[in-house]
Amino acid sequence: MNLIFLGQQGAGKGTFAQYLGNTKGLVQISAGDLLRAEVKAETETGKKAKEIMNKGLLVPDELIAELIEKKIEKEKNNGIILDGYPRTLKQAELLENIINHLNMKINAVINFTISDETTFERIGGRLTCKTCNKVYHEKFLPPKEKGKCDVDGGELIIREDDKKQAIMKRLEEYKKQTKPLIDYYKEKGLLKEVDAEPILDKIKPIFDEIIKEIEN
Ligand code: AMP
Repeated sequence: MNLIFLGQQGAGKGTFAQYLGNTKGLVQISAGDLLRAEVKAETETGKKAKEIMNKGLLVPDELIAELIEKKIEKEKNNGIILDGYPRTLKQAELLENIINHLNMKINAVINFTISDETTFERIGGRLTCKTCNKVYHEKFLPPKEKGKCDVDGGELIIREDDKKQAIMKRLEEYKKQTKPLIDYYKEKGLLKEVDAEPILDKIKPIFDEIIKEIEN
């Protein structure tokens, strides 16, 4: 099973990708994580992407295309969840080429919907482990020990692009560039919608039903 997750920042794409990873063995391919790894390793791509990411803007399509293609190819036998890719119509077309080329198929596109207020509430309090990228929330999912990752004890930080100004930019980018993908995938008959506004425990059964439907 190969899926694409859509949804504005804070909708829970990463959380549900991890959940399907644990329950179905699908591999989450997060475009943001791939880029952040490049930034951390100070590669040419990382150097070009860093400032753009900090401002909450999308990096140019060509910076991310190769990273994504390599990763999809590596994981193609496991089943994948694309989280944060594609984010523009051009990327959706590029992805179609990659998928066809690898003889794969996208089974469904799940769109997680929330309000802008919820985006600010969820992303505003988000903390990320500097070493393993595990995500916490000051209010909703605090670590056991303040400022420290439960898994590896790494320092918890607020990502540069999780600061208010950058969140506003990211939302603007989402509405301008990524929202058109909803219609694009609807027309292809692939789109499934999940209301991601309620708390996690309420969404999970609905989400499980959708996954069952896709599997059948
Ligand atoms: P995320 O963690 O998915 O919110 O991504 C963090 C940042 O990485 C975004 O704000 C963009 O700057 C960049 N990014 C992630 N995915 C893409 C993409 N598909 N196309 C362009 N830029 C991206």
